[in-house]
Amino acid sequence: MKPTKYIFAAALFCSLCLPLQAKLNVVATLPDFASIAQEIGGDKIDITALAKATEDPHFVDARPSFVVKLREADVLIDGGAELEIGWLPPLLQNARNPKIEVGKPGRVQASEGIRLMNVPANVTRAAGDVHAMGNPHFTVDPIIAKAIAQHIATAFAAVDPPNAAAYQANYKTFEAKINAKLQEWGAKLLPFKGQSLVAYHDSWVYFAHRFGFNIDIFLEPKPGIPPSPSHLTEVIAQMKAQKIKVILVEPFHDRRIAEKVASATGAKVVDFAQFPGGLPGTDTYVKLIDALVSRLAVALK
Ligand SMILES: [Zn+2]
Repeated sequence: MKPTKYIFAAALFCSLCLPLQAKLNVVATLPDFASIAQEIGGDKIDITALAKATEDPHFVDARPSFVVKLREADVLIDGGAELEIGWLPPLLQNARNPKIEVGKPGRVQASEGIRLMNVPANVTRAAGDVHAMGNPHFTVDPIIAKAIAQHIATAFAAVDPPNAAAYQANYKTFEAKINAKLQEWGAKLLPFKGQSLVAYHDSWVYFAHRFGFNIDIFLEPKPGIPPSPSHLTEVIAQMKAQKIKVILVEPFHDRRIAEKVASATGAKVVDFAQFPGGLPGTDTYVKLIDALVSRLAVALK
């Protein structure tokens, strides 16, 4: 064989064989989507989460390596609902990857088909409100997590049809796991149903709705705005009046502020996280919800 022919044959061979052997290259903006994608993709995918589990999802530190990851992605999973609006759009622009544009099979927007809570009557980003489209922290509701998992399975099947049956089977397994756990979680929290809690940021409205809590008071005066002394004075008065016992904080919040409010009210500060890996021993979605449920049950006892 002449060298040129050989090169051509080798190139043709590789263009046919490599895509079949390669794993699906999946990028998720946040660790919760990555964790669910891993459950669905199993060993058929390589998954990268851009943000760390301990980072504020609204204000992720965008590194140049993110652009490379996005350029090489077969599938991108993001939240939509403006959760990543502060950092994702410029990265996507630089990555120039048509496979993961909105509307393409390689783009999963987790909020699609999910009814957002707390959608304001008038959309305004005035005063720095980062929840202008409604609350984007929906994955902590396990029933919504199942919907996201199904959405991901459908997308993986569309992008990688030879493994469609595997993705569907993994979805069924995840669904069954969540269904079994929902009973256990519900039973553990049942004695505390109807109680009010305080949170640093408005991250828990879907969790509260699922398990029967009220979380309507926040250390932040508006989502994304740091606590001010006058606002905290008001929060302390409300907590005393309602005898609220728990303040939920996330890894990226200023815990000292929560501790001050706790010491003024006799409440406990409870470390919570939206993302698998954000608390010790929570490397999967189910383990994360397990941890949230038991931490809350212990604090409210
Ligand atoms: Zn938020």
